[in-house]
Amino acid sequence: KLYNEVQDLKGNIRVYCRIRPFLPGQSQSHTSIEFVGDDGELIVSNPLKQGKENRKLFKFNKVFGQASSQEEVFKDTQPLIRSVLDGYNVCIFAYGQTGSGKTYTMSGPGLSSKSDWGVNYRALHDLFHISQCRRSSIIYEVGVQMVEIYNEQVRDLLSSSGPQKRLGIWNTAQPNGLAVPDASMHSVNSMSDVLELMNIGFTNRATSATALNERSSRSHSVLSVHVRGTDLKTNTLLRGCLHLVDLAGSERVDRSEATGDRLKEAQHINKSLSALGDVIFALSQKSSHVPYRNSKLTQLLQSSLGGQAKTLMFVQLNPDVASYSETVSTLKFAERVS
Ligand code: ADP
Ligand code: MG
Repeated sequence: KLYNEVQDLKGNIRVYCRIRPFLPGQSQSHTSIEFVGDDGELIVSNPLKQGKENRKLFKFNKVFGQASSQEEVFKDTQPLIRSVLDGYNVCIFAYGQTGSGKTYTMSGPGLSSKSDWGVNYRALHDLFHISQCRRSSIIYEVGVQMVEIYNEQVRDLLSSSGPQKRLGIWNTAQPNGLAVPDASMHSVNSMSDVLELMNIGFTNRATSATALNERSSRSHSVLSVHVRGTDLKTNTLLRGCLHLVDLAGSERVDRSEATGDRLKEAQHINKSLSALGDVIFALSQKSSHVPYRNSKLTQLLQSSLGGQAKTLMFVQLNPDVASYSETVSTLKFAERVS
């Protein structure tokens, strides 16, 4: 196994933290991030409060500071991506409140410049590159699916008949344990195929206005990349799957403000994020019962959470002190699973 470099003492779960920079016009002085250490440490405090108990220390496998580039972030993600070619299932997701940089990390701010590309474009680019120049006797086939989970309903973002159709999740075990949602599968041969499909997918993603961010996504989006390698010499088949997940915003919604559809959305998001936390917690505890069935999200990701699968969570933070309480609740979620 050439690319099986990612080894973790705590099983196969790693947690990276990424701090979004201040945006133009935001005051730099009001930060809740007090300290970032090289070995994954982070101290958060509320500068508007006094006292030592106000400072909280958190530790991650890695912290990416405000100046970190997309390239640096990918460099530490690449070994995981490549292990998919060795037949591993991998799940990478971004967790955090709306506006904390989840979409920036997973996709990037746009496609105009390659240096802006987020993890998903870089991952596919890398998979194509490696699969084309690696062992010549292996022929790789790559297929992608893109679904959205909104209000506990799974929808195909790449369906030719639009995203209206609701999907079930196949619970029957696939030959190597892949549980594939019943969504259209698109075979891709190049980055331009990928870019075209992902554009369609993003356009189909449901968004609605919130007070925090007009384009806030209230749904989880899951890009699944299926790799099949056929070794012509030994006549063997390898399969790996990569799930790239941009989660819905984790912010708590004020019950007095949200009503109707917004309240329902918030409850569904809450439920699925806590189900995800429960699954990862159970895995980190090596618990014999892992509660996959409590949400569509965890059912869908089951094959890439636990067992031999490798999981990476990006914990996204907004450094602004106005986000302090959301930052602390995001960090608490991360702390429980790491
Ligand atoms: P989320 O998906 O969590 O709601 P976004 O990814 O949309 O957050 O980020 C919110 C805003 O911050 C966007 O304008 C985005 O371009 C910007 N942003 C996020 N992370 C970074 C970063 N690392 N560097 C520069 N800008 C960023
Ligand atoms: Mg987003």
